[in-house]
Amino acid sequence: MKRPAVAVVEDNADNRLLLRAILGDLYAVAEYESGAEALTAFDAGGPPDVVLMDISLPGMSGVEVLERMRADRRLSRVPVVALTAHAMAGDREAYLAAGFDEYVSKPIVDERVLVGAIERCLTLGGSA
Ligand code: MN
Repeated sequence: MKRPAVAVVEDNADNRLLLRAILGDLYAVAEYESGAEALTAFDAGGPPDVVLMDISLPGMSGVEVLERMRADRRLSRVPVVALTAHAMAGDREAYLAAGFDEYVSKPIVDERVLVGAIERCLTLGGSA
């Protein structure tokens, strides 16, 4: 059975390494260091099943990348998980209101929280 495609958009190499370690056995993980790089790859290779989106990125922020995806017919329905170190009270509500499907704060202390968010997204997208 084909593993779901998870795109990781994260500029921090240590975080990418951690995410690959957590997710690599479960999903087909593709990594991008910027939103522009990810959008170019989605355009060329088709949309992933789920996107994990860092918010603080060089160039476009994760929120801007999300806005571009939602404005693109081919990408508008791809579930996107906000992955952010800006964890403050009310953040979850703010990111969900901005259009993210799930919210996971960094550092990731419990990998089940992250995998749970991805699995809910796969159920939403109907691509599981
Ligand atoms: Mn970052």
